[in-house]
Amino acid sequence: MKTSTQSVRTTLKTTAPSECRLLYSGHFMIWDVHTHLHGVDGRTPEEKMAKLIGFADRMGVERICLYMGFPFLLDPTPKELRQQNDQVLQALAHYHDKAFGFVYVSGKHPDESVREIDRCIKNGPMVGVKLWVARRAAEKDLDAIVARATELKAPILQHTWLKTTGNLAGESTPQDLIELAKRHPKATLICGHSGGDWQLGLRAIRSTTSLYTETSGSDPTSGFVEFAVKELGADRVLYGSDAGGRSFASQLAKVQGADVDDNAKKKILGENLKRLLTPILKDKGIKP
Ligand SMILES: [Zn+2]
Repeated sequence: MKTSTQSVRTTLKTTAPSECRLLYSGHFMIWDVHTHLHGVDGRTPEEKMAKLIGFADRMGVERICLYMGFPFLLDPTPKELRQQNDQVLQALAHYHDKAFGFVYVSGKHPDESVREIDRCIKNGPMVGVKLWVARRAAEKDLDAIVARATELKAPILQHTWLKTTGNLAGESTPQDLIELAKRHPKATLICGHSGGDWQLGLRAIRSTTSLYTETSGSDPTSGFVEFAVKELGADRVLYGSDAGGRSFASQLAKVQGADVDDNAKKKILGENLKRLLTPILKDKGIKP
């Protein structure tokens, strides 16, 4: 039996070529670099993950990168980091074909964070690193973490924001991340949220060519993805949603509705992330 979506597609195909192009861009492989369990209904990691994957399936998102447990902890202790990563490991257990784990670590606890990277990536199933708001990326405390991740070929996503009301004490700006990138030219670093205030954030990271950016969070304002492609080139831009803090639909719309060509959309929606993850997936024997 035809679903209503299929009938809508068929109608557009025959009657409205331009809308049709927009819908079909949704048929590109979609990999999401930024999702969480927090904000999704459910009492356990398993319940939340089933919901999250259900939403992703509905929107045609084939793979998600998942990190951090619940509740959100701004400044977790080493014990809390382990608990949060355990929640993600639990959530991943039934979904290794759909989800990639990023280990949550903190620049406030570099030694324990390196051990956690070993536990979850080297000796576990995770493939990336998430840094949030405990320590600014420019601080030397992050060096051991970035060095270990780079050895293991794990990409690092660092949350960044430029708040007009002032950042949290440990919250990084894109400029902080540039300092870190300069000290670690071989690291794969992703500028989370494009700095929130993306017009400033994207301009700031433009000339640091080893840095990638991602589109998650913030309202789906028009012009974001167009500006990212113009300033950085499509190869450096990754689609991310920040689900369950944001919906897949609103965040996908930023890319799918952007006035950039299909080749750029294809790269942003999935190909770039797949390329960044391929070395570590190969090492771990995981089929992309
Ligand atoms: Zn997030």
